[in-house]
Amino acid sequence: MTLLGRTAEIAQEYLEGVAERQVAASRSYEELVEALDGPLPATGTDPTQVVEGLAATLGPGTVASAGPRYFGFVVGGSTPAALAADWMVSAWDQTSFSQASSPAGAAVEAVAERWVLEALGLPGTARAGFTTGATAGNLVGLLAARHRVLERVGWDVEARGLTGAPPVSVLVGEEVHPSLLVALRMAGFGEDGAVRVASDDQGAMRADAVADAAGEGDGPAIICAQAGNVNTGACDPLDAIADAADEAGAWLHVDGAFGLWAAASPSLRHLVAGAERADSLSVDAHKWLNVPYDSGIAIVTDPEAAAAAVGTSASYLMTDAGREPFEAVPEMSRRMRAAPIYAALRALGRDGLAELIERCCSHARRLAAAMEGVDGVEVLNEVVLNQVLVRFDDDETTAAVIEAVQRDGTAWVGGTVWHGRAAVRVAVSNHSTTEGDIDLLAESFIRALDAVRSRG
Ligand SMILES: *Cc1c(COP(=O)(O)O)cnc(C)c1O
Repeated sequence: MTLLGRTAEIAQEYLEGVAERQVAASRSYEELVEALDGPLPATGTDPTQVVEGLAATLGPGTVASAGPRYFGFVVGGSTPAALAADWMVSAWDQTSFSQASSPAGAAVEAVAERWVLEALGLPGTARAGFTTGATAGNLVGLLAARHRVLERVGWDVEARGLTGAPPVSVLVGEEVHPSLLVALRMAGFGEDGAVRVASDDQGAMRADAVADAAGEGDGPAIICAQAGNVNTGACDPLDAIADAADEAGAWLHVDGAFGLWAAASPSLRHLVAGAERADSLSVDAHKWLNVPYDSGIAIVTDPEAAAAAVGTSASYLMTDAGREPFEAVPEMSRRMRAAPIYAALRALGRDGLAELIERCCSHARRLAAAMEGVDGVEVLNEVVLNQVLVRFDDDETTAAVIEAVQRDGTAWVGGTVWHGRAAVRVAVSNHSTTEGDIDLLAESFIRALDAVRSRG
């Protein structure tokens, strides 16, 4: 058998078993390092043996996040079309920075861009850059914002840097995602200078607080809102925030890593109404669109600002107008990330995408309903999207339940602290999760709770 044939067989076997195996990894980090370790080999090894060895060693050290009962963080699996397209991306091995470096890479970006914008209800004139994830998307958005708000006051930040620049006021919500703070750091704004706007009890920015804070200054300003709080799924009131941004002449950036996909569903899009008024948005494909890692999208409605901030220009790039991938993201050489996104959208279609998003949310509500009836169990959030926060008796019991569920192996959930109280965080974002999987998770919670309580 050929190397790639054998590899496909190993991958197929892995995926066929992923719903049945224990969801947690069955080998620890230390065991894995020890198994892989050794001196750098002086001589080579047959590639099939290398791949078989890697799969045998690392397979048991993976978490079954490709399967239907991994509910940790906010992690998507891969739809079959997206996974297969990702294999082709590796086989083609294109560097997709320009039309010249890869007509195929540039073409699939151009179409994936249009489809993503249409699916999310965003202006068709926006530029989508294909990044490693939402962190990079946040950075691109903030750099484009930095360019435009400073350009408006006569400061060329790309040429002169931030030293001596007019101050830029940056507003974020109290519940801002840590990756946006990283982006603020990288963009030279610093974390501490950002004004933190009060949130409501679900973690969404309060519209009145944004309006007050935005009304205070009259210099360059950037407002960073969020669609999809990682704990509760709550979305900031984007329409009202867009009003405040208009009023203040501020740039509006939306971190919509997973929550922005609500826009793809007719029954959920009201949650993110106003997203279409943002100047820049960051959204992940590797979370809710179920495209293999790594894949995010940086959307900027002002393509010139994006190009000025992060685009590459050099004489040898020989651009002849038309959309060029190097104008949208900071990396030059990079894989053809848009192809799996195109494949995912083509295989799902608009209706299939809406159905995927709605199904995950309906699963989240099913879990909440199952847990709410249990004595001593509380659902701490309004389940508006795909996130459920569950608390068992007290902090200690909640922590013990998480551990017991992970050890039980039927499912995997992680913990969080919500308003000072320990909680289990359940994110439903895998395309293959069924109602039956949700029921298995609920049963696993009850088994764990009974065991923890009887231990006392
Ligand atoms: C996951 C997430 C991010 C970071 O995205 P990456 O793809 O991990 O870089 C940012 N913001 C929110 C709200 C997220 O959920």
